[in-house]
This record gives sequence, C-alpha cells and structure tokens, in this order.
Amino acid sequence: MKKTLLPFLFLLVINVNAQEQIPTEKKELINSIESRENELIQLSDKIWSLAETAFEENQSAKLLADFAEKEGFDVERGVAGIPTAFVATYGSGSPVISVLGEFDALPGISQKAMPTKEPLKEGAAGHGCGHNLFGVGSLAAAIAIKDMIEKGEIKGTVKFFGTPSEEKYFGKIWMVDAGLWDDVDVNISWHPGAKTEADVQSSLALVDFKIEFFGQAAHASADPWNGRSASDALELYTTGVNYYREHVKPTVRMHYHIQDGGQVVNVVPDYSLLWMRVRDTKRDGLMPVYEHAKKMAEGAAIMANVDYKVSLISGIYETLVNREGGKIMQNNLELLGPIQYTDEEIEFGKKIQKATNKEMVGMDSEIKALEETKEHPGGGSTDVGDVSWNVPNINLSVTTAPKDTPWHSWAVVACGGMSIGHKGMLYAGKAMSMTMLDLFKNPEMVEKVKAEYKERKGDAVYESIIPDGPPPIPDSEK
Ligand SMILES: [Zn+2]
Repeated sequence: MKKTLLPFLFLLVINVNAQEQIPTEKKELINSIESRENELIQLSDKIWSLAETAFEENQSAKLLADFAEKEGFDVERGVAGIPTAFVATYGSGSPVISVLGEFDALPGISQKAMPTKEPLKEGAAGHGCGHNLFGVGSLAAAIAIKDMIEKGEIKGTVKFFGTPSEEKYFGKIWMVDAGLWDDVDVNISWHPGAKTEADVQSSLALVDFKIEFFGQAAHASADPWNGRSASDALELYTTGVNYYREHVKPTVRMHYHIQDGGQVVNVVPDYSLLWMRVRDTKRDGLMPVYEHAKKMAEGAAIMANVDYKVSLISGIYETLVNREGGKIMQNNLELLGPIQYTDEEIEFGKKIQKATNKEMVGMDSEIKALEETKEHPGGGSTDVGDVSWNVPNINLSVTTAPKDTPWHSWAVVACGGMSIGHKGMLYAGKAMSMTMLDLFKNPEMVEKVKAEYKERKGDAVYESIIPDGPPPIPDSEK
C-alpha cells in the first residue's frame, strides 16, 4: 500500500506547485472561463453543427453576438456593410485591447465527431479549419477580461470582433477599411492547429481575381467555324500560367479554379470563368506577378478571338509579426503548461492518424519554444494579415487536432466537434485572456508591442486590395 501511494503523492505535489506559479489574478481569468465551460462548449458545438460558409454565417454570428450581449457587452451588428460582422465592446477608456473570432466553415467536408471518415450530412459544409473553436475561444477570453473590468480590478476597454468569411473573400479587409481597429491599442488572435505555440511566423500575401472570356456559341460539329470558343481562351490562359511558373521567384504560388468551362460537349462555349490566385511572401513581390497575370488574359483572348474581362475579387497582406507580444504569450503558455489528454482522446487522435496515413503518435500539446521568425514562412494566408498592418497583433496557435492532421479536411472537423477541440478552445481562451491582462496591467508592455509594430511597418503605407463597391454578400443573404 505504502509503496504505491508514494509516487502518487509526489505527482500531486508537482501539480500543486505548477498551479501555484499562476498569479491569483490570472487564476481569476481561468475560473471565469471554467465556470462557463459547459455553455462555451455548447455554443461551439452549435456553430460546429450549423457549419455555415462565407458571408452566410447568420445563425453562427447571431449565437456569438447574443452570447456577448447576455454577458453585458454592447454589440454592434452588421458592421462594415456585412450582415454577419459585429463588434462587442465592454468598458471604457484606454487601453483598448481586442480579440478576434472567426466562425465560417468550408464547403463539402461535413463529418461526424468520429475518427473515421463519415459525413454528418452528405455534401454539406464542415468546420475543417476549426473556426467554431476560434470564435468561441476568443469570446471566452473577452468575457474573462470583462469580468475583471466589471469587478473594478482593471480599467479600460475590451472588444471582441466577430469576423466572417475568412475562407472566401476575406471579410476582415472590409472591416479594416471601415476603420474598426483605429482606436485599438493591441489585438490578439489565435488559430486552432496541431501544435501549441506563440506564433511568430508571417503568412503569405495574396490576390484573387476572376477572368471571364466571352465568345460565340455554335454547333461543335455542324458549324464550328461560326463559333469562337471561350473555353479555348481559358485553356490557353492556364497554359500560359503554367509556363509563367518557371519565371517567377520560388516564393510565388499560383493556383486557379475553373468555375465555368462550358456546359455541354456539342456546343462551342460562349462563356468561361476562371478564379485565379497569386501568392507571395510579401505584398511587394506579389503585385508585379499579379499585373503580368492580368495582362496574359489579353493574349489568350487574342489567340481565341474572343473578348475578356478581368475583375479583382479581393486580396490580403502578409502578417506583421510581433515578437514582443509573442514573448508575453509564451510566458503565459509556460504558466498554463501543456494540455492534458485522457487515454480515450489519445486513442481518438491515433485513429485519425491511422485513417490519414500518418504516424500514430497521438497528440502534441508540448509548449514549443519561441521560434526564430523566418524570412520566407511558406504555408497559407489569412486576413488577420490586414488587421496586423493596422494595429499591433499577437498570434497564438493551440492544439485542437492530432499531430500532422491534414488541415481543411474531415479530420479537423471531427476533432472540432469533440473534447480534443473543446480543450484547445478553452486553453486558447485562457492563454489569450492572461496575455490581455498583462497588457491591461503593464502600459510598458503595450508600448514595447507598439514600438515593434511601428518599426516593422516602417514607411510602408497600407493600401487594401479591395474591389470597388460593397462586399460580395450572396443575394440570398441581402
Ligand atoms: Zn482558419
């Protein structure tokens, strides 16, 4: 009996010590979030099941906004001309610290909360980027800070930005354009992931544009000489793009999606439509490639003897990293320690890895050391980039899926609807609220974060890559 009890007691002591390192005020934040744990999980699960896509997140946005309102926030809905964008504010005066939450899903990857591929609803959307967790985790952080302002323990303003349509069109660019971050001192953001770290890597700048070709229809066999093919032009254009790849810098990425290449085989198509995307590490490198890729449409149109039109869809900046902010976040991750998983959760993770042909190593929640900031980070893009050019931004990544999980896939959807995702979401809320509290309590930290922002931005002037007119809200949502 004694032999087995001793190691148990030893473990208990270690755990108590780790907890005691967390200052009382930060424990209050943790308690705020834990006291609402069930409600927050329910909220996330509802958004997970709704799985609403870009600019159509009506119920998801309403759920988050209503929750904030019930907690005493002032909520302004339908900001920046977007019905599903909103700002929830609590408190007054400075500092103004904000956190942003996404909530849009991805089409076609519906999945049950189970470790083998099985759609919840065939062909429907799913939260393959974990944005159900993103929105609720950020709101949890804002609420914990609200509690402290309410109790008079800190002074200032906390804002939660409900930011729709990250996966398509990049909703934040219209919100930035409306000046919504103009009075904010520091913004915090996170993203669900397969590891936990204070994120000090940038993301890629990109521009999206569409190319339309207009020809003349004719019978494909009886009188093709009367036809001018819009799909010939499209094929010539993409062939040109694929030759062009050899003559751009290795940091450039180009992708296209044929959205309309004609309807039937026996008609010479009079219309075609291509969605084109160009990316590079920085916006400066991006724009010349974009200009050339636009010009190439004219060449394709001349060859196929058709008309053409190029229209900007939208575009985003690379993210301005903030290492000073990253250090504050890092300190809080170390205070919290890694997320602990049950045997069942580890088993769930391994089954996901088996189903996606990855090494069956389970979860990775180890707190990574603060990395060097890479000059060419690779990877994806995010409209958090545009926010980061207008207000200092601190980024976090938290484990919500097993190691090496393919992103934007059914596997991420599965984890986001069960306890692995929930744990990451609550953890992110805690880490972000602790970082926000540091900023509320220490004006010198805010100054350091701002100074780095100014230095990194330098003389560059932010110019959004935004089309004329209102945001592209689908007609069904207007
Ligand atoms: Zn995402």
